[in-house]
Amino acid sequence: MIQPQIFSATLGLVDPWRITAISFSNSEKRIDITVETQWGESAPCPHCGESSCPDAVQLETWLHRNFFDHIAYIHIRIPRFSCPRCADTHHLSVPWEGGYSGLVRLDDHAPAMQQATKSCANPGS
Ligand SMILES: [Zn+2]
Repeated sequence: MIQPQIFSATLGLVDPWRITAISFSNSEKRIDITVETQWGESAPCPHCGESSCPDAVQLETWLHRNFFDHIAYIHIRIPRFSCPRCADTHHLSVPWEGGYSGLVRLDDHAPAMQQATKSCANPGS
């Protein structure tokens, strides 16, 4: 009944983003979708281009009031990177930034952070 591919396409998810969990309540007309990247994927620094591994993850919740006729809560885990060359800290942009509309971020104050528990191998390759 639940089709993750349809949700992924509607949210505009492309690699490395993927849906890792969906829960659905027909009685509450509610969908909870968890979106994350695979730990271990490095990303280039937007300032100097140096590749680094995520050192933490920022947890955000986004709300869509009419997602396939349901209230949808999108729980996204956004990797944070600290550049070893220029010491800049940066996050990946949420996949729907500048694209899919209708989503409102709920955590306007400081979002929750978790330390990365796994490291990625060979970030410079
Ligand atoms: Zn850098």
